[in-house]
Amino acid sequence: MAATVQYVPKEKIYPYLGYAWPSIGVAFVREDLPGMVKEFVEAHERRHLIQRRDRHWIWLELDATIFLDWKLLPGFMAAFCMSMTPARLRLLWRRLRGEK
Ligand SMILES: [Zn+2]
Repeated sequence: MAATVQYVPKEKIYPYLGYAWPSIGVAFVREDLPGMVKEFVEAHERRHLIQRRDRHWIWLELDATIFLDWKLLPGFMAAFCMSMTPARLRLLWRRLRGEK
């Protein structure tokens, strides 16, 4: 299945920056993100699409971040800074607690 990326309005997936849906081979990326953030998020979500799903989500997140091309580092750093918002931190907290 060929992976596709769809750019979607912020409201569709907020507070996510991007969202991978492996069973249908589609990664969703917020269209409003700055260019370098969008480039990082797209690569990150594409990697999620090809991962084995029997791993803990924290491992999957590390894997989808650490093994990317170093040229995406500025986009990662900007995405990290964009994640220091109450909505994004609440999302992280929910996921750490095992909630969706
Ligand atoms: Zn991820």
